[in-house]
Amino acid sequence: MLSTIDLRGRPLGVRELRHLLPRADFDVAAAVATVGPICDDVRERGATALYELGERFDGVRPPTLRVPQDVLAAALEALDPQVRAALDEAIRRVRIVHEDQRRTTTTTTVVPGGEVSERWIPVDRVGLYVPGGRAVYPSSVVMNVVPAQIAGVGSLAVASPPQRDSSGVFTGYPHPTVLAACALLGVDEVYAVGGAQAVAAFAFGFEDASDADAAPVVCEPVSLVTGPGNIYVAAAKRHLKGIIGIDSEAGPTEIAILADDTAVPAHVSADLISQAEHDPQAASVLVTASVALAEAVRADLEDRVAGTKHSERVREALSGPQSGVVLVDDLDAGLAVVNAYAAEHLELQVADAAAVSQRVRNAGAVFVGPHSPVSLGDYVAGSNHVLPTGGCACHSSGLSVQSFLRGVHVVSYTEAALREVAHHVVALAQAEDLPAHGEAVQVRFDRA
Ligand code: NAD
Repeated sequence: MLSTIDLRGRPLGVRELRHLLPRADFDVAAAVATVGPICDDVRERGATALYELGERFDGVRPPTLRVPQDVLAAALEALDPQVRAALDEAIRRVRIVHEDQRRTTTTTTVVPGGEVSERWIPVDRVGLYVPGGRAVYPSSVVMNVVPAQIAGVGSLAVASPPQRDSSGVFTGYPHPTVLAACALLGVDEVYAVGGAQAVAAFAFGFEDASDADAAPVVCEPVSLVTGPGNIYVAAAKRHLKGIIGIDSEAGPTEIAILADDTAVPAHVSADLISQAEHDPQAASVLVTASVALAEAVRADLEDRVAGTKHSERVREALSGPQSGVVLVDDLDAGLAVVNAYAAEHLELQVADAAAVSQRVRNAGAVFVGPHSPVSLGDYVAGSNHVLPTGGCACHSSGLSVQSFLRGVHVVSYTEAALREVAHHVVALAQAEDLPAHGEAVQVRFDRA
């Protein structure tokens, strides 16, 4: 478990680091080839394809693609009180943080009579993906829905894979805890569709006329798909981007931990495992200048992995090419590594972690000091857990209220303000050999 990449004595640039740092063999680019035909199938055959793909990939045919209202209500009714209390607290904290992300219109007076405003308008309709292959993610309902609601999105739909082994009324629908979280947040449009086919269903919309006794169910296409998922979900988002907007490629989880001799090995190893249990393709990377810490973490991992519930999955993730220990000369070199790697989650378990955090440039989210583990952020820190992976954190942000808004410039000039600047428009139009642009301004004054 955990191969070693020894970068000591090797001052490296970003290009070389990106080449040497651990990354999965089967990445989003490779998975796009798999999901392309799935997306085409959904576009062409709609609901028929969605039922078949549920059977093929999730091992169960949903009773209906849209989850009936009474099933949502039953899930909320059956929700364990302790889980409900935890979800209520997660919702409360995520709301507090995301309320502060609201955007207001700004208006700039460029010159007297010449104004440019920026209005923030929510997208009309979003599709929110909630994973549900290996694990169950009611927390992702919270992380998707709360910012969309605060942004003021008028129409939201959730999709999550149908579950083969939820008993009785829930069989073939998303996990009851996911349904309960939707009901708790007042989301009533929920589909039993997972993976790439869910992203395609949102992109193209579909009509389900499989119940001859009822009116067809129509899922209208969305403008934006957000949410986390495995490599196939991330690949479908990349494949369909343009037809839909996306938040980021929030694929298989990654944790990088920058640690020194002040770190507690058991904390480091427990945190590496906590993210490895998501997926055999999850990445757990320790970056340190301390050989003693690296050895202590390895020793702790042996016992801890053997005793954890999903030990097989964890072992696979920790043994994969996407995970490893990166040995560096010192803190500066460690920072260069984590900035080049651009992890989804970066933990700083180093002396004076708050000061070090100021030097982090590329990460989906940063977890500072010994009492801020990633698991806290997964559920109840108040931060969002839908975060960019695969190095995308160097250009993309985690999910936020902003993800659901578009900034629209509104331009308003008076005649005098336009007249004052008309000659500049004409000059630039001539410079670009687009004289009709200048004429469109000039014509307004020719008549006067
Ligand atoms: P999932 O819902 O993402 O994926 C399950 C779906 O994958 C299935 O419904 C199926 O349609 C599809 N699928 C499975 N095998 C396939 C194949 N061979 N070809 C095509 N499609 C296939 O659930 P999951 O698998 O449990 O994965 C959840 C993922 O979400 C994990 O990788 C986890 O790390 C990640 N995650 C990411 C973030 C983030 O913000 N980056 C947050 C939470 C979870």
